[in-house]
Amino acid sequence: MSDSVKQSVLVVGVGGLGAPALMTLARGGAKLALVDADPVELSNLPRQIIYRDADRGQPKVAAAARWLAANAPGVEVVTHRLMLDSANAHALIAAATFVIDAVDNPTTKFLINDVCIETGTPFAYGGVLGMTGQTMTVVPGRTACLRCLFEEPPDADESASCRDAGIIGPVAGAIGITQAAEALRWLRGEALELAGQMLTYDGRRGRIRVTEIGRRPGCRCDWRAPDGARVLGS
Ligand SMILES: [Zn+2]
Repeated sequence: MSDSVKQSVLVVGVGGLGAPALMTLARGGAKLALVDADPVELSNLPRQIIYRDADRGQPKVAAAARWLAANAPGVEVVTHRLMLDSANAHALIAAATFVIDAVDNPTTKFLINDVCIETGTPFAYGGVLGMTGQTMTVVPGRTACLRCLFEEPPDADESASCRDAGIIGPVAGAIGITQAAEALRWLRGEALELAGQMLTYDGRRGRIRVTEIGRRPGCRCDWRAPDGARVLGS
């Protein structure tokens, strides 16, 4: 990795997971790129605490950039008010050093997974459903990806999205902060804590469990990392 190119973290989704992640990333010194198509809504205010009442109706990416400018002056931020899709994902992800998956729908999670695998970009998966949150870091070519666990995204009607099932602030906060901590470890060249390890936080019982996830032979991530890609242990 060249020192002349500033390292950047792409945060996809600046809601329940992405907002707490930003509070941690703000201190990390990396350039941040934010992707989200949604405006700030009243229901976001209690758990996405970087947003204020005056931000209602404003794009989340713009409100998040204002919060960063006020609370972490000097942090370089680029905003993209759009939904990550197959047309824009490659360019956005290829420009990043590390990606934080903070979206709430399975289709976009698998898109992030697949493009990160294709471009050799490490990312932190994160998901919250009700009182349970999960996160795992994926290092392409080295550790298990989402498709090692689930070959395909669940059908739309089978998957209760966070929007429908409701997500609880403290659980999302814990997961988002954990994802951001992994991003900062990667940027600093420190060992990752959750590469190939799924952390599950059961907010109802206050328990945290970490499970090792093995790579699935034949998965699309089952390839050698491209020359020049930085991999664990190298
Ligand atoms: Zn895989």
